[in-house]
Amino acid sequence: MSKYNVTIGLEMHCEMKSNAKVFSRAKNGFSELANSHISPLDLALPGTLPVVNKTCVEKALKMSLILHCKQPEYLYFDRKNYYYPDLPKGYQITQMHEPVGTGGYLLYDLDNKTYKALIHDIHLEEDSASLDHYSDCSLIDYNRAGIPLLELVTEPCFHSAEEAIAFLEEVKRIYQYTDISDADTKKGQIRCDVNVSISSDDTLGTKVEIKNVNSFSNVYEAINYEVKRQSELKDQNRYDEVEQETRRFDEETGTTIRMRSKVDAIDYKYFVEPNIPKYKITKEYLEKIKNTIGSLPRERKEKYLNEYNLSLYDTNIIIKEKEYSDYFEECISLGLNPKMVSNWLTGVIIAYLNKELISLKEFYLKPILLKQILTNLDNKTISIKQAKEIFNKSLENREEPNIYIKDTKQISDIDTLRPIIEKIINNNPNQVKLYHEGKSNLFDYFVGQVMKETKGKASPTLTKELISEYLGSK
Ligand code: ADP
Ligand code: MG
Repeated sequence: MSKYNVTIGLEMHCEMKSNAKVFSRAKNGFSELANSHISPLDLALPGTLPVVNKTCVEKALKMSLILHCKQPEYLYFDRKNYYYPDLPKGYQITQMHEPVGTGGYLLYDLDNKTYKALIHDIHLEEDSASLDHYSDCSLIDYNRAGIPLLELVTEPCFHSAEEAIAFLEEVKRIYQYTDISDADTKKGQIRCDVNVSISSDDTLGTKVEIKNVNSFSNVYEAINYEVKRQSELKDQNRYDEVEQETRRFDEETGTTIRMRSKVDAIDYKYFVEPNIPKYKITKEYLEKIKNTIGSLPRERKEKYLNEYNLSLYDTNIIIKEKEYSDYFEECISLGLNPKMVSNWLTGVIIAYLNKELISLKEFYLKPILLKQILTNLDNKTISIKQAKEIFNKSLENREEPNIYIKDTKQISDIDTLRPIIEKIINNNPNQVKLYHEGKSNLFDYFVGQVMKETKGKASPTLTKELISEYLGSK
C-alpha cells in the first residue's frame, strides 16, 4: 500500500444502549422530534445535579473486562471545560484521571491471521447536543445531550486500513453481542477519530488526526487518502509540510481537509467532577458483571469452525450479525444438523431477508418452524426441491410448514413403492424387452412412469434402486 511504515491509532466513540441518559432520566433513544427527550439537567438549568446511571457504569465496566483492561479502585468522573453551543453546561462530564479501563488488548482476525490490538483506555462520558447548520441559522437538538458514550482509545498499533477496519468490526460485534450498544453506524451511534502517520524507519512520524468519521467505509477511505497524501509529500522531500493537525474527511471528494493545527494542545482545565461522589468498585461487583458477559463472537466463531466444521466463509457470515448467530444457535439447540442449518441460513434465509428487506426478527419461520422442514429433509422424506417450495409457500401464507409437508411427503418406504413398480414393469413387457436388447435409456421411461403414478412423490433414489432390481432380475 505504501513503501513507508504506516501507523494508525483509533479513538472510537460509541453511544450505549440504556434505559435513560447517563446523568439524567431523559430517554436515551432516537426520536423524529427534536428536543423531545430532554430533562432540565440536559439543558444545564440551575439547581440540577447529575445522578449516575448504574446500567451505563455496568456496561462500561463490562467492556473494560472484555478488553482485559485494569479497572480503577474507585469510579469517578472529571470535567472537561470548554464552551460550545452544543454544550450548555460549559463542560463535558468524562473520565480523564481514572477511566473505567486502562491498558488492555483485543484479539481480532483478518485474512486467517489473528492480530492483537492494544487498548490505551476506555472511558465513560456524555454526548453533546447535536447542531444542524443552515445557510442563515443553526439549530440545536438536545435529544443527544447526555446520551452515554463509551470512548475507546487504542495505541498506535494498526498498520493498514484493513487492520483498522477489522478491529472496528470486531468491537462493533462485541457491543452488539453483549447488548452494550446497537452500534448502528446508520443511526450515527459510532464516530471515530482516526490518527495516521508514516515513517521510513522505526520512529513514529508526525500524527495527523481525522476527526468524527461516521462510517467504517469512510474510515477506510480516510486512512488510505491520508497515507497517500503524506507519502507523496515525503517522496517530494516535503515531509515537513505534514503538520500535527486536525483534519476532516470530505465524503464528496474522498479527501481529508485541514481544520486546525494541533500543535498547541487546548487546555481543558480538567478537574474531578465535584457533584458525583466516588464509588468503590469491589471485586464482587466486578465478578457479578463478568458473569453477564455471555459468549463473545470470537468464541462462537471458534466453536462453529472447530466443533461444527463450518467453512470460514459461512462462519463469518453467521457471526457478522448477532441475530444470525442467535438464530443459528437456537436451531442447533433444537437438535438440527449444524451444517444443514448453516447452508440454509447463509444461502436461503439471508437471501430471502435481503430480498424482502426485513430482519430475522420479522422473519416468520422461527427455528422451531424451520425444524419442521429440515428434519424431513434430513431423513429424506422430502427432497431439497420440495423443501424450498414448502419454505416459500409457508412464508407466503404464514402457515406452518407441516401443513404442506403432509401433502408432499416422499414415498420412501419400500412396501408402498414395490407394488407400484411391479405393476408398471408387468404392464410394459415390450419396453422391458427393448431395454434388455440394449435400449438402456428406457430406464428413465420407467422412472417417469413411477413418478406419474405417484404424482412425483416417489423417492427418486429408492425408485431407481427398485427399478434396477426388477429389470436386472428379469
Ligand atoms: P493527543 O494527545 O493528541 O490526543 P494521544 O497520545 O492521546 O494524542 O493519542 C491519540 C491517538 O493517536 C491514540 O489513538 C494514539 O494511538 C494515536 N497516535 C499517537 N501517536 C500516533 C502516531 N505517531 N501515529 C498514529 N497514531 C498515533
Ligand atoms: Mg486524545
